[in-house]
This record gives sequence, structure tokens and C-alpha cells, in this order.
Amino acid sequence: MQQSTPETCGLSREGPGQGGHRVHGESPGDEWYGGAKPVPVGYAGRVLRVDLTEGRVTVEEPGEKFYRMFLGGKGFAGHYLLEEVPAGADALGPENVLVFAGSVVSGLPIPGYSRFTVAAKSPLTGGYGEAEAGGYLAPELKFAGFEAVVVTGASDRPVYLFVHDGRAEIRDASRLWGLGTFATERAIREELGDARVRVACIGPAGENLVRYACVMHEGRNAAGRCGLGAVMGSKRLKAVAVRGTGRPELADREGVLGIARWFRDHYRDNPLTRALHDLGTAGLLGGLNASGMLPTRNFSAGSFEGWEALSGEAYEKRFVVGRWGCYACPVRCKRTVRLGGVEVGGPEYETIAAFGSNLGSDDLGSILEVNRLCNDLGLDTISTGVTLALATECFERGLITASDTGGVQLRFGRVPARELVELIARREGFGAELAEGARRLAGRIGGVAPSLAVEVKGLEAAMHDPRGKVSVGLGYALAAHGADHMVAAHDTMFLKRGVYALDRIAPFGLLDPVDARDLGPAKVRHFATLEIWWDTLKSLGVCFFCVAPRSLLPVGMVVDSVRYATGWETSLYELMQAGERANVQARLFNCREGLGVADDRLPARFAEDAAGGHPGIDGAAFAEARRTYYELRGWDPDTGRPRAAALHRLGLPVPGWLS
Ligand code: SF4
Repeated sequence: MQQSTPETCGLSREGPGQGGHRVHGESPGDEWYGGAKPVPVGYAGRVLRVDLTEGRVTVEEPGEKFYRMFLGGKGFAGHYLLEEVPAGADALGPENVLVFAGSVVSGLPIPGYSRFTVAAKSPLTGGYGEAEAGGYLAPELKFAGFEAVVVTGASDRPVYLFVHDGRAEIRDASRLWGLGTFATERAIREELGDARVRVACIGPAGENLVRYACVMHEGRNAAGRCGLGAVMGSKRLKAVAVRGTGRPELADREGVLGIARWFRDHYRDNPLTRALHDLGTAGLLGGLNASGMLPTRNFSAGSFEGWEALSGEAYEKRFVVGRWGCYACPVRCKRTVRLGGVEVGGPEYETIAAFGSNLGSDDLGSILEVNRLCNDLGLDTISTGVTLALATECFERGLITASDTGGVQLRFGRVPARELVELIARREGFGAELAEGARRLAGRIGGVAPSLAVEVKGLEAAMHDPRGKVSVGLGYALAAHGADHMVAAHDTMFLKRGVYALDRIAPFGLLDPVDARDLGPAKVRHFATLEIWWDTLKSLGVCFFCVAPRSLLPVGMVVDSVRYATGWETSLYELMQAGERANVQARLFNCREGLGVADDRLPARFAEDAAGGHPGIDGAAFAEARRTYYELRGWDPDTGRPRAAALHRLGLPVPGWLS
């Protein structure tokens, strides 16, 4: 065991309302602006700092102003990355900073208040990297007395971090190195003698620095995007394990419980929430196919002849044996399947499409196996599938041959995904090329291959075709972390008056329907507003599938929940400002790394018409929409850099390098 500095935080172990969570002591960097320094309510007010090079653990208490400005999750991530990662740092070097963050409201007993953010400079994009996952980690971290863990440096041997009731220790992980994520979680719980320890860990893919290795939690929740598992691997940090028995005092406990009860009483009546309960995200597949937006054969088509075998209904009938939910969530949108006599997490829609239609396969049984394998090896299924789709198209076009692939034949509908996934995770043979991701693979192949790589900033596109819903394209192009679909609510939810989702965004001043293919200023305003709501939710660590507009909980109740937990006199305005701050910090990080307008682009494939789908996106219209977006944000329309006034508006300092 390496050196550790045990810390205590004065957590009550008696549960809500019976004791109290009080943190005492001065915080050197606290800039509280008058009166008695407030004592945190609803949150611990503590961030765990872990220096792996020195083997040292310390605690910082950033103060209420910090919490109000950044909330948690993405807000914390952007702050620490911008402050502490040196410009030009090697994403896989010790100077990178790795953040795990819950939020001020993590662990409230309201459904969906359970997501955690993992962030670092991305080894895939070279820019700001973020990923989120549900489950139990963020609530457990809160109950252990912390909102976040910030990891710096790198260990010289495998270690894992154990955080428990205000204490933390760096422990030896030599015997865990090389294990899959399932075995790792089991082994840590056995070693600690506590079945209720919550674990986020990497598998062999992260250890071997696969650029799209993910962080897994509970064997089924992936903080998937941007290769943050490789950052853990580069630091030789196998896992973060957390156990907490405290509960924060709440400013208005009855208010919080009232929201939780209201959700439980109403979620079955809500069509979108009920659909998630009944079929999970796989229930999307049939509708996307019917509307010509199911990514097929490396996004060359928008509908797939074998879709029925991949549908949510087929999945439910043939394979699902149970549902699974995150902390305190009755929606239980996740599926459990039985493979080889063992119950494991089943694939989400993204995985089914990435290894199904986008590889030309209708073999759902094989996709379940590949999903299990990716989860155990610690691979992001979206990036893995899209990189394989690129390689397959290159093979079919003769840009690569069997001599490049180690003898593997790559044909849509017959991609040996299981075999290749093993090679990728171990960086063996052709797997070493695939492990670099679509952009680098295309660069190595050369010729027209880069125009076939469906990625933005190096991040492979998710399984949503922006040709039929252009706000997804705005998200792909403009998100600091690349082509992610979890950037804003998709515009197909707001096509006409009287539909459920449109009614739910009135609190943002968004009152009119949108056309899914329109790229005019009204659409850009719509996207830019909802993007900030999404970044607010990412900062709060709240699940999009539980709140408006995608689901049940109205916007106002989210605001109320923060007030009831913390006692702050807060508002939608204040929370949205925090969301925008998170967005701009990520943007600033990219600007400092040299990313600019040319990186805010769409893959060439989306300018082409999709067979059985939608026409290509007009490049000039898209460029104009991008310019409008910059102007709405207060960024320079020629460079895409935030202007000083935009930072002043958000109370952010203007870095010297920006001018
Ligand atoms: S809706 Fe699904 S993803 Fe969201 S908190 Fe509930 S179970 Fe988790």
C-alpha cells in the first residue's frame, strides 16, 4: 500500500434527518463574499485530491461560491482541466488530470440524480474529453463525503483508490492488472470484504491504452466516450472504489421527498418514460429505421433490411430476463440478459446499431456477446463499432486487403467482431491499428479513407444520423468533445404543437415547433438553448431520461430540487448560467489546445445522400448555422473563440492567451 493521508469529514452515519453533515474549518482558496461563511447543506463541500506520483491523498474544500458556479460533473471537470492541465500536455502522460465528479445534488432520492462524469484531456481527440454514466458511484461518493475526485500524476505500479466515509487510500492493484472489469469489481469487493462497495474500473483495453477505452461501473454502465479508460491506464489506476454510509443533511427534506414521490406516482403515465421502462433504449431502433435514420453500413444508408431482428421488441422477446435501474430510479431502462448461464447487462440501442445495422448484421445474439466482451475488456462500443465499419468499407473498396488485416476478411454482414474486439483490447495484429480509432486508422490507410471516417475531432459518431435531424449534426460538430449524441435534445421531439416534449421546453422560452431539417437561426437558437440545459444536467449529474423534455420531471422541479437540497435561493437562470460556464470552459480548453472552426465540422459522409434515408446536409447552410451559433454564444464568428464579454457575462476570468 502506498502512502495515504486519511481524512475524516464529520459525516453523520445516522441517515437523513437524524444527524447532520457539517464540515468545519477554513478553506484557504474560499472567496466567500460576505457575512458568516456558510456551512454546506445538501452536499459535502469536499473534493478529494489524489497525487499518484507522490502517493498522496488530500482534501480541499472549495467553498459555496465554487459549488454555485460549477455545480459538479461537467462544470467541475472543465474547471479543473482548464486550471491544471498544461497546454499541449500528453493526454497519456502524468501531467493529464483525471476528474470523477458527482454534484451538489447527487444521491438525492429523486430518480435520475445518480450520474457521474469522468473527464480528462482525451487521447482520442487531443481536446476536452468527457463521459458520463449512471449507476451508483456518484451517490456513494456523496455518502462517503465527497463530490469529486481529482487525480493527478501517475503511479509507477498498478493501484486502485478506495474512498470510504471521509477517508481515502491508494492500494496495490498488481494482482488486478490484466483482469476484465467484471472480475476486477468482484476482486475488489472480496478484498475489502464489503459487497456494497461501488467500483469504476478499466479492463485490458484501458491498460493497453486503446484510445477509446472506457471506464466501466457495475459491469454495465460505461463512461464510454473519449478514451478516458486509457487515461486511467496511463496513470496505472485500475479502479476507484467507493463506500459511504453517511447522508448529507437537506435544507428541506420533505420538499426533496415530495419530488421523489411525485415522480414515482406519475412516471407510468408519461409516454416517453414508460417507453424507456418497457423496451429500454432499444425501443428507438424501429422508429429510427422507419424514418430513414438508422445508421447502416458505415452510415451509407439510413434504413436496414434486417432491422426487425434488432428491434426492441425482438430483443425483449428473445433475450431480456430482467430490468435494471440506477440509484433510486424506478424507470429501470436497462436490460439484463442471460449469456452462458450468467446474467449480465444487455446492450443499449447505441451498441445494437453500432454492431448491427452499421456493420450490416442482423445477428442480435452475437451483438449481445460482443457487448458483454466490450464491457469486460473496457471498450467504448460506439467507437469500436464505427472504427470497424470504417475498416470494413475500406476493405470492400480495396483500400486495404487481407494482408493488412492479418488475414481477416471484412465484409458488411460478416465482420468477425468478437475476434477483432479481442485483438483491439490487446493491441495485437490488426487490432493495434484499430485501437487508434477511426481518424488515425483512416490517416494510415490514406487515399479517400479520411472521407469515409465518421468522426468529429477524432470521436466516432454515435448512432444517430444527423441528415434527418440536423440539430444532432450541430451537436456532433460543435460539442467540445466531438460527435456525441448526448449534447442536446434531438429536434425530432419538437416537430409540432401539442406534442409532449414541445410543451416541456416553454420555460426556456422555446415555444414554436421546429423542422428537423431546417438550419436557420430559429433552429440554431433552439439547439443552443437546449445544449445549455443539457450541460446544466451534466453538471448536476441528472439523467436526461428522467427530466424534461425527454422525460417526466419538469424543469421547475429540477430547480426546486437544488433549492430543497442546498437551501440556496436559486433559479433556472442561475443553473443555466452554470451550464453555460461548463460549456465555455470546455470550449476554452480546446481553444488553448489549438482546436478551432475547422474542427467544428461534419464528416464528409453526411454531405452525401443516405440510401433509404435523407439527403446530404448542405455545407454552406451548415457553415452559416455554425456562424450563427458562435454569434449567439458571444464567440468570434471567424475564429470560434469566446469573446471577453461572453466570459464576463458568465463571471469567468479571461485567460491571457485568449487575446
Ligand atoms: S432512466 Fe435509466 S439511465 Fe436514467 S437513471 Fe433511470 S435507470 Fe438510470
